[in-house]
Amino acid sequence: MNFRSIEEKIQTEQAISRQEAEDLFKQGSDQELAHLASLTRKRFHRPNEATYLIMAIINYTNVCVAKCDYCSFYRLPHQEGTYLLSFEELCERIDQLSSHGGTLVGFNGGFHPKLQIQDYGALFAKIHQKYPKLTFYEMTIAEFMFSCKISKISYQEGAEILKSFGTEWITGGGAEILDDQFRMRHSPGKFKTDDYFKAQEAVLDAGLGSTATMVIGFDETIEERFNHLEKLRNFQEKVDRKLSSFLCWTYKPWNNELGGKEISTQDYLRWLAISRIYLHNFINIRTSVLTRNEDALLGLKYGANDFDIPTEDEVTEKAGATISLDFSRILENCENLGFKPIHREAWTRPSSTKFKERC
Ligand code: SF4
Repeated sequence: MNFRSIEEKIQTEQAISRQEAEDLFKQGSDQELAHLASLTRKRFHRPNEATYLIMAIINYTNVCVAKCDYCSFYRLPHQEGTYLLSFEELCERIDQLSSHGGTLVGFNGGFHPKLQIQDYGALFAKIHQKYPKLTFYEMTIAEFMFSCKISKISYQEGAEILKSFGTEWITGGGAEILDDQFRMRHSPGKFKTDDYFKAQEAVLDAGLGSTATMVIGFDETIEERFNHLEKLRNFQEKVDRKLSSFLCWTYKPWNNELGGKEISTQDYLRWLAISRIYLHNFINIRTSVLTRNEDALLGLKYGANDFDIPTEDEVTEKAGATISLDFSRILENCENLGFKPIHREAWTRPSSTKFKERC
């Protein structure tokens, strides 16, 4: 590996090749990865600041027919313990978040066989009306795809329907590893990778905002991980850099069919650094307090610039995640690492023009 040549490319804001990224991941020391990731981060963000917001992921239903083997959360329809939250119950959860000073709600459920796009749209419209000051990430792209399927409409039509109800954001959630061999092993009923990108494109074309996500630490190969990053980077170019952020979680191995062991913080940080360096066309790289707790803040030294402080997420809590409401300790930790924590507003939906201006 030619470290100097990779460093020079980063200093001159050139994209590094996949081969260079793979070499760096395999051969670079932790310090080298942190250094190069911080250099890349500096293109877009002040080196000694980090942004955050307080958010909840509200799991409105645990009914799902996808049967992913790494999932600890779902129940099949008619199984015991299924639920679908009512509007009033959702409002109670949103009120709880507001009482903690939270400003962002992400809705995340399952592949519910009876919820059509119109149902989601109508529910979101009521929620917007009641909470005009909060930001909502209303569905994951995975749920959107499934709902379009059972509504018997195209992704373009689905995105237009959501837009007509006032939806502004969905997320790239449910991506895990975007590689079809991985998907066939663990979630054959969920979606194929090409289809995922078609849905993302339709959502962005309709003028809605979306994000990129990844989950590592199952049994994926390094090649499968890099396939994920390469596809994302190419897609981000294709859509004129409109995905607003990239967030990497880690798999929690408890209470599900797949099981296994959790990856170490060091593995997570090294992957975060590679993501920042290789995904040169993403402004915002976020580190996951939800799945790594306070160790996630170390990610700020490995290229991340932003983090959420979560107040709830049943999906990851069922799989072993713990959530702390001691916000001041988290923020103090951030400062101790040399980053001034700045509470941010929700991002506006990005346009390629903004990206170029900030570059
Ligand atoms: S990960 Fe999501 S899609 Fe897969 S079974 Fe769980 S809830 Fe369903």
